[in-house]
Amino acid sequence: MTETEGQEPKAAYRRVLLKISGEALMGPQGYGLHPPTVARIASEVKAVHDMGVEICMVIGGGNIFRGLQGSAQGMERTTADYMGMLATVMNALAMQAALEAEDIHTRVITAIRMDEIAEPYIRRRAVRHLEKKRVCIFAAGTGNPYFTTDTAATLRANEMACEAIFKGTKVDGIYDKDPMTNPDAKRYDDVTYDEVLQKNLKVMDASAIALARDNGLPIIVFSLDEPGGFCGILRGEGRATRVHG
Ligand code: UDP
Repeated sequence: MTETEGQEPKAAYRRVLLKISGEALMGPQGYGLHPPTVARIASEVKAVHDMGVEICMVIGGGNIFRGLQGSAQGMERTTADYMGMLATVMNALAMQAALEAEDIHTRVITAIRMDEIAEPYIRRRAVRHLEKKRVCIFAAGTGNPYFTTDTAATLRANEMACEAIFKGTKVDGIYDKDPMTNPDAKRYDDVTYDEVLQKNLKVMDASAIALARDNGLPIIVFSLDEPGGFCGILRGEGRATRVHG
């Protein structure tokens, strides 16, 4: 039994999924993996783990390779997408190492079998890991080309019966246009799934939003750059945008 097993979570949520893009791991260097940044995000996850919350994670691969980029440069699309999925496995292993350095038991679970380095995805086994307060990092997306890790995050959050997806970004919520380049961008406190789709707000891709909507899974967008941000949002503090029905 782990230290936090059997404890009541000190947060409004019992089980959540944290989705971050691959780019969140590249830090100031602008490409690849930046170990101090990975360690910083791991410490944010630890703070939430210490509250007794069960945590799933999905990490993108865009800091290493995106299928669409490869296909735009003439590569066959499905091969490029498999390369993108492999990139997510590298990110997941980096995050596992950083979480283990914080003494958090972590499992990388892949949608494509690679038994020497990670567990295959077996839903009931993953649920058991969560019950034992192990962080589960779901890697290799859905295992299918033409999808994204946003859709993988929504799929796994539904399968694991998570109460919400927390999407960690560079900004404190959803804006009507990019707040980095538009100082007059309007921020939403909450927004419906249909508004996100109709206004084409940049949160997650349309198939991920539709899957969340059809299953009533809330998406909470918050800033992962804010120290203690993930923990604060779970306690109901700080700014975030909630996407709901
Ligand atoms: N990918 C895929 N199927 C999936 C998930 C991901 O083919 O179910 C591939 C796709 O090529 C994608 C890449 O993996 O571009 C990296 O994922 P994503 O673009 O979602 O990463 P992020 O933008 O979140 O870093």
